Amino acid sequence: MLTVIAPATGKQIGDIPETPLSQVDIFYQKGKTAFLQWSKLTVLERAKYLLKLKIIIVEQMEGIAKIISEDTGKVVTEALIADIMPTLDGIDHITKHGEKILKRQKVKTPLLLIGKKSFIEYMPRGVVLIISPWNYPMQLAMVPMLSALAAGNTVILKPSEVTPLVGKCIEDLFIKAGFPEGVVQVAHGGKEVGAAFTNGKPDYIFFTGSVRTGKIIQQVAAKDLIPTTLELGGKDPMIVFADAHLERAAKGAAWAAFTNSGQVCMSAERLYVEKTIFPQFLSLLKKEIMDLKQGNDQEADVGSMTFPAQLQIVKDQLEDALSNGAQLETGLPPEKWAKGMFLPLTVVTNVNHQMKIIQEESFGPLLPVIPFENEEEVISLANDTVYGLNASVWTRDKEKARRVASKLVSGAVVINDAIISIANHGLPFGGTKQSGIGRYHGEAGLRIFCHEKAIVEDNGQKKSEIHWYPYRGKFPLFLQLFKSYFQTNRDWVKFAQYYLRILKKN
Ligand code: NAD
Repeated sequence: MLTVIAPATGKQIGDIPETPLSQVDIFYQKGKTAFLQWSKLTVLERAKYLLKLKIIIVEQMEGIAKIISEDTGKVVTEALIADIMPTLDGIDHITKHGEKILKRQKVKTPLLLIGKKSFIEYMPRGVVLIISPWNYPMQLAMVPMLSALAAGNTVILKPSEVTPLVGKCIEDLFIKAGFPEGVVQVAHGGKEVGAAFTNGKPDYIFFTGSVRTGKIIQQVAAKDLIPTTLELGGKDPMIVFADAHLERAAKGAAWAAFTNSGQVCMSAERLYVEKTIFPQFLSLLKKEIMDLKQGNDQEADVGSMTFPAQLQIVKDQLEDALSNGAQLETGLPPEKWAKGMFLPLTVVTNVNHQMKIIQEESFGPLLPVIPFENEEEVISLANDTVYGLNASVWTRDKEKARRVASKLVSGAVVINDAIISIANHGLPFGGTKQSGIGRYHGEAGLRIFCHEKAIVEDNGQKKSEIHWYPYRGKFPLFLQLFKSYFQTNRDWVKFAQYYLRILKKN
């Protein structure tokens, strides 16, 4: 049984029964059986189910936002704007563009394959296992689920055990929307359940979570060559140049660092500020942070932490930084923290790139601020990490912003804003380096859930092909044919002559 404790209040708010490990094979059998019918539907027929789900989510929006907020400790406004809205917008995107993205695509056929046509077909893979985290428990489960379903797969979701109420809520929503039996199944439980389903030989694994678990899943999947997408952690840099709109950048930094209490894979975890404006920017930032209200009511800006173990990570990093000379600009030293899951919004300066606070993912309300001299230096500092998920560049100079953005080794870069690239379902989403493998959203988001099949079509009227047997006498003719074709200026007369001569040899 998963006992649900509301992180903001510490109160027990429910119990969710765990899926017994003995059910793994039954889930996969059901998923495979349902796949036989579901994969036969057209994209438009499957979209109708998604649209029904959308109507139910819209009707129940407030109640769902409250469940997410209770289960995670995040404020209800964030549940709405960062979990529910992206899910609904994902449905809109998939139902609007899915058919076009997944239909057979005609591609050019090279002249040397005269008389043939070429196509790409997208064939659903089968049963997709989706393993999701607790920080955006609805969005990060639902968007891959909806994409896999629209592409014709059936889905087993293993939601995070840290936020089981949201997992149950997702299960109920799909039941209410009337998805056929076995098309969507939810396996509740922790890492043992996740591991058992990973070992159950799904046809694809879509994992969102920590680098540590991502590596384990990749190893297990490799044994059976099961393809995966891994959406992992981040240590995103935010770069503020002196010519930026400083008040906007300070407000942006407070939001990018502390939204969802900093438990965002793309939150600003390293703030680089140009030296000439460092003191001025720091005081603007401190003012912004002072104005933020922490709590769990509807008027609050920042909620509580979600996962108790995360507090220890934040504490360790802060202690390490302070004991090595870092200076607290806002917040409190860990020994003065109040009990409970609300952490002070903490800004530190006087840090260096060897510290844990700069090298390791914090996933909490902890923001180190570092001065930089020039463009070249800040690019090198921003790229000095094993991660590469998102980044932001703040300046009024568009040329400079674009120049810096293209040099950052990162899955996405946002200019004069942060994080929100994930809110555009038309853009691919994913990481570089240890931030992950693969992309979703955009065209890739649907196509990863399909086998991409190349089809070459000949009308079958000719008796033979020039590249078939017999080869007798063809070598010198092919030599001339390819020379006439591939030389810098194509010689079409020679090409036609040699083509006809080879044809006669057939
Ligand atoms: P986690 O890796 O601890 O857990 C993620 C999921 O994996 C959970 O459902 C968990 O039960 C399951 N799991 C754990 N061990 C498993 C195993 N051995 N086999 C199969 N499943 C297993 O991550 P978390 O703490 O839930 O999430 C926080 C992490 O997720 C952070 O590192 C964050 O940066 C990352 N994240 C990444 C993205 C992204 O899109 N790149 C988005 C959100 C969070």
